[in-house]
Amino acid sequence: LLSGNDRFKQLAQSSELMTIEELIHPADLNRVRRALNRAIDGYSQTIRCQMIFKQDIRNMFVNIIHVPSKNGNGTALYLTCHDETDQFKREEKITQLALFDVLTSLLNRNGFEQKMEEAIAAPQPGELVTIGVRQFRRINDIYGHSAGDQILKELANRLRHHFIGTGSAARIGGDEFAVLIFQQEIVDYRDLKTILERPYRIDGEKIDVSISMSMVRYPDDAVAVTSLLSSVDIAMQHAKREQTGGPIWFESWMSEEYRESVVLEAELREAIARNELQLFYQPQVNLKTKTVDGCEALLRWFHPERGMISPAVFIPIAERSMLIEEIGMWVVQESVNQVRRWEGTPLESLRVSANLSVKELVSGRIVELLTDVRERYPGIEQRMELEITESFGVFSDTRVFDALQTLHRLGYRLAIDDFGTGYSSLSYLSRLPIQRLKIDRSFISGTDACSNAPLIETIIRLAHTLKYDVVAEGIEQAEQGENLRELDCEYGQGFYYSRPIPADEFEIWYDRYQEDIKQSG
Ligand code: C2E
Ligand code: MG
Ligand code: MG
Repeated sequence: LLSGNDRFKQLAQSSELMTIEELIHPADLNRVRRALNRAIDGYSQTIRCQMIFKQDIRNMFVNIIHVPSKNGNGTALYLTCHDETDQFKREEKITQLALFDVLTSLLNRNGFEQKMEEAIAAPQPGELVTIGVRQFRRINDIYGHSAGDQILKELANRLRHHFIGTGSAARIGGDEFAVLIFQQEIVDYRDLKTILERPYRIDGEKIDVSISMSMVRYPDDAVAVTSLLSSVDIAMQHAKREQTGGPIWFESWMSEEYRESVVLEAELREAIARNELQLFYQPQVNLKTKTVDGCEALLRWFHPERGMISPAVFIPIAERSMLIEEIGMWVVQESVNQVRRWEGTPLESLRVSANLSVKELVSGRIVELLTDVRERYPGIEQRMELEITESFGVFSDTRVFDALQTLHRLGYRLAIDDFGTGYSSLSYLSRLPIQRLKIDRSFISGTDACSNAPLIETIIRLAHTLKYDVVAEGIEQAEQGENLRELDCEYGQGFYYSRPIPADEFEIWYDRYQEDIKQSG
């Protein structure tokens, strides 16, 4: 290089001559040499290359112009360089944003899907694993969002490290990761799970996380990106349902079951309109006085072809979508109607308990409905109770907690259902605005009910300390009721008194029961 303009000298930080080798990035050198030679032959060239300067490497767009000398001996080349570094960086940044996750710098969903397209097109088989952090929301609530972010980063690092050269990792959702493994049967997924579950040290604190994991093989299980993702997702739903389960491989029956549940969901949507839902009632008896104190409203679905479908089957399906809210609205409205129908009859003194899934409390529609109900029928709130099933971490969701507070302020009674099977932490339990615990029936009528006595006693004592009263579910024998009464349990419910039955049958049952206690008492 014989000379350069001021800007060039400024970049090169010297006025001394440079060789092409010093200036051009080695990776571009051969191409640039070829271009220079062609330019010497008389053909002007344009080329993009990187130039190495003292301070940094710059991306240049170079015009090489052939300038013949006047006397014919020798040729000069005149190079104009357009500095494209900033634009290049911008473009790189855009690609980065489009394909990579900002927090973890792993691929994002977009980038991952591209990767999958390429991998599936290649002849080698491989595997796809998805990884979810259980209860990540709760971790955020307890330790704060910045700790949550740090856990995600650390988890991403562990993944990156584990799959160097064997797979590409991505963050495909808030707390969901995926890795595409370019071979089959080289990964020990149990081992991977153990690694990802090793405690996370964040700001001196040791945080435990639990991972759910599911895997598919390609092309065995699916040959397209969308079906691969949906299969692994179906397997993931199975993995999430199991509290302590290991990694779960997708199996074809899972998609059968899934299709079945999709059909059921579609039918359930129409069930409300077609009047196929009905509430059955089961009495709740005061164990000391033997009087009926209230009843629980339990949902039944009479399917035109399949017959009666248990709520244990269709409520979990409804909970996967907003359908649960529609059902909840119907249940609340119908319970209100029942309370009003019983007004002025002997059953007027009974409280009706309706079941609500916590998922129904999130959006606020049910709370609104119950607010309206109380305005329209003042006093009705004292004759209604809402049973909420405890499940891991739900009460730390502020929306659920606020909904419960509002319902409490409105005067509705609240009970925690199926107590003992879930994960209520004591600290939340004591803060909840509830009046009642229902001990899950597995403690009362389950196979090892006898050995449960100390546990039941503890639960009852705990409830009383917190000023809650206790209902035992699943009483099937007189003796169970007696034992519970001796343990100071206030209320009982179960097949021994009555199965859940339709409202008209319940009225008859109630009359007869009242007669019986009058005679025996
Ligand atoms: P749950 O609220 O704990 O209801 C008690 C369940 O135990 C009922 O089952 C009832 O029929 C059954 N049961 C009562 N006594 C006995 C007994 O002595 N022995 C035995 N083995 N079982 C007894 P069901 O009606 O099948 O309901 C199952 C679950 O479905 C309910 O559990 C509740 O979580 C849910 N569910 C029912 N109705 C609704 C509803 O309207 N909305 C919502 N969100 N969930 C509901
Ligand atoms: Mg219940
Ligand atoms: Mg229950």
